[in-house]
Amino acid sequence: MAVDTTTIFQHGTLGLLVPGLYDGTITAGELLTHGDTGIGTLNGLYGEVIILDGHAYQAREDGQIREIAADETLPFASVHFEKPDASADLTPMSQADFEAQMLKDYQLQNMFAAIRVDGTFKKIHTRVAPRQQRPYKTLVQATATQPEFKGEHVTGTIIGYYAPHLFQGATVGGYHLHFLSADHQLGGHLLGFEIDQATVKVQRFADFKVHLPIDNTAYLQEQFDNQEIDSAINKAER
Ligand SMILES: [Zn+2]
Repeated sequence: MAVDTTTIFQHGTLGLLVPGLYDGTITAGELLTHGDTGIGTLNGLYGEVIILDGHAYQAREDGQIREIAADETLPFASVHFEKPDASADLTPMSQADFEAQMLKDYQLQNMFAAIRVDGTFKKIHTRVAPRQQRPYKTLVQATATQPEFKGEHVTGTIIGYYAPHLFQGATVGGYHLHFLSADHQLGGHLLGFEIDQATVKVQRFADFKVHLPIDNTAYLQEQFDNQEIDSAINKAER
């Protein structure tokens, strides 16, 4: 069966994590039928998810990385089927220069795009959300202290998305990138990086599909506060 390479599929919203709706509402197995590449978090805000080449991995707060089983669940994830429409070789550059260059070269500002960077990195700095127990704390409380990991001269892959700022709350407006090292020793939500030699692949999307957990009672009953969501995303996801 031909897969749809023109749509980003997102389960849940970033905003639903803000008040603490961390219950997994889609299985990894089902998620992978909507894409072979992406990012997310597991049930209970348990770590950071990195999906590459049809395999979903969890970076945990203890620094371990393991493959996720098909029956594990996620409250929030974005995936797509990989078919880049542009690629370029990158010379050494900072994260700020990389992000500015991508915006300019691919005119990302008002579109959705998947960004994948394979190569070597002078520096990688990640963080990993710690597993939460019920009753769940808010995202800002839950991520107030979270383990950070650093590596130098690391080979691996950055994967994530760019979304128009208009979509802040539904997802992260701007860049949202995760990392997984080739040896699976370092991973997580990317806080900082410096490229040594790498190749970037960009896949641009006109279509962004959001799948909401309408069978979840807590989700249905939540009264979302847009201002709180915006401020929490800026605190917790950057
Ligand atoms: Zn993240």
